[in-house]
Parts: sequence; structure tokens; C-alpha cells
Amino acid sequence: MRNELPDGTARGVAGRAVAPRIYLDHAASTSLDDAAATRMADVARASGNASSVHSAGVWATREVERARMRIADALGASPEEITFTSGATEANNFALKGVVWSGRRARPHLIVSAVEHPSISEPAAWLQAAGHARVTTLPVDSAGRVRAADVEAALGPDTVLVSVQHVNNETGVLHPVAEIGRICRAAEVLFHVDASQGFQKAPLNVAAMHIDLLTASGHKLHGPKGVGVLYAREGVSLVPLLHGGGHERGVRGGTLNAPAIAGFGEAVLRYTPADVERITGLQQHFERELRALFPNVRIHGADAPRVPMISNFAVPGQSGKALFLELDRRGILVSASSACHSTLLTPSGVLIAMGLSPAEANEALRVSFGRSTTVGDVDTLLHALTTIIKGVAPCP
Ligand code: PMP
Repeated sequence: MRNELPDGTARGVAGRAVAPRIYLDHAASTSLDDAAATRMADVARASGNASSVHSAGVWATREVERARMRIADALGASPEEITFTSGATEANNFALKGVVWSGRRARPHLIVSAVEHPSISEPAAWLQAAGHARVTTLPVDSAGRVRAADVEAALGPDTVLVSVQHVNNETGVLHPVAEIGRICRAAEVLFHVDASQGFQKAPLNVAAMHIDLLTASGHKLHGPKGVGVLYAREGVSLVPLLHGGGHERGVRGGTLNAPAIAGFGEAVLRYTPADVERITGLQQHFERELRALFPNVRIHGADAPRVPMISNFAVPGQSGKALFLELDRRGILVSASSACHSTLLTPSGVLIAMGLSPAEANEALRVSFGRSTTVGDVDTLLHALTTIIKGVAPCP
């Protein structure tokens, strides 16, 4: 049994360091940026509650407001339009339930896509089962993209909200958010975007893209876990999920997690276009070499615009689960599908929605790159895949 050192190095039973781990699962989560960690430690050591009006409270408030301003700036929003949450799951639940329960209509109509994260699809299904909303789930094309024309065709007189993600967490595919935003604005229907995967990694501007509500999460961009935001355009009213205390202008009760918020703000500032450019080079190198090594490889979503952080692929005849386990044994950490599904044997719903058979979907592996990923890491993965695939039994 190995246990892990803080730098990701694995330790053998005798306590000696063995193979270093290569972490290629950044779509699941990322390591904390050093400057964000320092900022968090400073804020955590202070005692103030950001709601208090004495100097310690004012100091904590300043940290929170600095982060709020940075996040608002990065989205093209105003600071008053940003509400801090415990992460993207809460923000997504807040957006859906907050709009449906705001009570303009009884059992209103919601539109979501077939490839949303469970933190959208499950509250949507719950709202429908509980009789609170009627839900339409839109299909995607074979590249995994929602078609804007399908959104337009699904709108009805009782539609209150459309929720389509910015970037898919399994394939990295970008949806036509600006086009969908134009359609929703013209129809006077609210548009929510789960931008957990794409924030700071692909163009995003709430005003230019006519986005009314938007979710982001700290831990996808080297910020801390357990913190996120919901942007809500000025004038959009939401019923709170958490009542009490009057925090966040009365829309989200609870003492603000000032250290995590400060760390999120720092991480946003430090995830730059230069990082995106470097990771683009890594993905291009990986996919070029992968195609050369395995000419029959399928890269899922390759025909659509994608972010460079995620490559989802399959070598026909190879079990994704078996490859995942063998890579893990060799200290290379990837995902057999999305992190949320990786302990299950059910095929990815995202890949099934793209038209893959269950057998094809079970061949998929997701590798996802982060700021710490090097060309050497990518080459080690390519080498391991080559040697494993020679020895891995084909799927029955
Ligand atoms: N939406 C998407 C697209 C995600 O990838 C994730 C994280 N896997 C979430 C929402 C949930 O984020 P959090 O962990 O911050 O609750």
C-alpha cells in the first residue's frame, strides 16, 4: 500500500519514495496555486467575520470584495452581480431552483441539455418529479454540441430558463453559448451557463454573450475546493436556497468562507492566456502523437471547438477501465470518464448522447492537462499507453 507525499510522490511501504505521480485529471480538480495558498493562509489566520463591522471584519470584507471584483472583471460583470457559494454544485442548484421558485408561473418550463453535469441534470429531474417544473432535455450532435436551433425550437410561452454548459467536463467541447444567449434574450427567457470547466480557459463575457446567470468553481483553475460563484444579472431575482443572516445581499445565508474566496480570487488572476496557450501546445502534441501511435484512435468531440485542457479518446477494442487501472498502477492518474462516474461501470451518458454505443463509450479515457503539466508528462503517458496496449486484452 502506497501513501502519498504532499508533492504527489508515492511512498512505498518502507517509506522510500518510488515512482512520482503524474496527475492528468485536472478536469476533476487541480492543485492549489502557491500564491492562492499563501493568501488563504493569511486570511485563515485572521479571526474576523466578514459580516462584523470592527476592523478585523472590515479587513476580511476587503479580501472578499477584492476577490469579488476580480471574478466580476474576468466575466465582464459588476461585483454586485456575484454571489459566493460552496461551489458549482450549489450555484447550479441555486440557478435552477431559484428561478423556478421565484414564482412567476406554476410548473414552468425548463430547458437543459443532455450533456449537463449531474449538478444540473439531477436538480432538473427533481424539479420535474416533484411537480415544480416541466423539463425538456435537448440532444447534442455527434460532436457533443447543443444546436442553437434546437434551443429555439424548444422554447414555449411558459419557458422560464435555458441552462446549457459552456464547456463539457468529459470532452472539453464548447457549446455555442453566444448564439443561444441571443436566442434567449430575444425570447425574454433567462439563460444560465455552467462555466465550471471553461472559466478563464475559453472566451466568456456575460454581457456580450447575453448570459443572465453563470456558475463558476474555484478548484478547476488551481483555486481551492468548496468555493464557487453564481453570477446573476442585475434585475434577475432568485429565491434563496439558504435563508438566514442576510449575507450576500440576503440571497445566500451563511458566514462567508473568506480564506477560500480570497484564494479563488488569486487563482483567477493567475490563470492567464499564456497558460491556455501553453496547454494548447501540450494537447496538440498529445493528440498528434496519439494519432501516429494508434491510427484508429477516436478522439471524442474532435469535430467541435474544444478547450485544450481535455482530451477524451478511445483506442477501439481497449477497455477504458482497464487502461485507467493500469495507468494508475504506473503512477499516471487519468479518468475512465468523468470523475463522478469513474467508480461505476455504467457508460458515460455524455458519450451515449453523442451516439456512441455502450461498448464504445466504455473504451473512453479522459486525460486533462493543467498548469503543472509538462511535455515530459505527456510523453510518459504516451509511452505507457503504447506498452500497456500491447499487453492489454481486447474487449470481449
Ligand atoms: N459543473 C461541471 C461542468 C463540473 O465539471 C463540475 C465539477 N466536476 C461541477 C459542475 C461541480 O463543481 P463543484 O465541485 O464546484 O461543486
